[in-house]
Amino acid sequence: MLIIKKSLKNKDYTAQKITKHVIQHTVHNFQFIKGFPASNTWIVRSDNDAVLVDSGFGDEDSFLLLKKYIDTYLPKIKIHYILLTHNHSDHSSGSRKLAEYFNADVFIHPLEENMLRAPSKRESGPIEIRKRRRIWEKEKQLTPIKKYIDEGKIIKAGKLVFQVIHTPGHTLGSNCYLLKNDKLLFSGDTILGYDTVTISAPPDGDMSKYLESLKRLKRFNLNYIAPGHGPIINKPKDKINKLILHRLNREKQIYDLIMQGHKTEYKLMKMIYPNIEKNLKNSAKNQLHAHLGRLEALNKIKLQIEKNKWKII
Ligand SMILES: [Zn+2]
Ligand SMILES: [Zn+2]
Repeated sequence: MLIIKKSLKNKDYTAQKITKHVIQHTVHNFQFIKGFPASNTWIVRSDNDAVLVDSGFGDEDSFLLLKKYIDTYLPKIKIHYILLTHNHSDHSSGSRKLAEYFNADVFIHPLEENMLRAPSKRESGPIEIRKRRRIWEKEKQLTPIKKYIDEGKIIKAGKLVFQVIHTPGHTLGSNCYLLKNDKLLFSGDTILGYDTVTISAPPDGDMSKYLESLKRLKRFNLNYIAPGHGPIINKPKDKINKLILHRLNREKQIYDLIMQGHKTEYKLMKMIYPNIEKNLKNSAKNQLHAHLGRLEALNKIKLQIEKNKWKII
């Protein structure tokens, strides 16, 4: 029996069969805060044709866990492609080793190239993760991209059919991949199986484009969303509606605070995230910047940015 029907749990990874074609594989690396799920690699297969969506982490241990799983439980599959949802190292950095070992072609959206080749902006975090992150960042930059793929492209592997949906927001070149066989959307970090999504601060991400992307995704007839982090989502429309509402509420909150006179980044952070964990501070600040960028684009405020300190004038 090649397919794992139940969750296989050991201390390092989980593998779970989701549909006839899709297996969720997660190496449990600690990422930002306790409770935040590590990134998923999705193994998609039909007969012996297979595709990976995202590649997981690029350190040797993480790579070996995924390789060993595939070698043990799916020894006959041929992995044609590794489809990356975006450049971030928790999704992309495993692909160099995987592409080499399985002789697979790696695809990503063209707008991700610059971010993929540059180290990510420094993020805070506990020392043990910073060490691993350094390896992930290095590996990420070496990702061997075979082809850049944009909106509307169809990718076939045996009976598997994927449609590329470009969904800018979290990053400008974020792609979702619709597996037509199962009406299942691989959403990367555009939609998470977790409370909310961080939008990269401009120019890497864009809040207005993010909201547009969510509205577009609502128009697809989906059975499932397979997110970049966390469990499969069974009610796609509800989830997307919730995300849109959350963003619009946060935008209103920020705008109201500005109107009340809270016009510096420092003051706004204190009001919006009074008890935030240290490890999440950078993400939260990105979030605030993404909202402020959108408010300025909507002509509701005017920003002054000096040495990456944001202020409303
Ligand atoms: Zn990301
Ligand atoms: Zn991620």
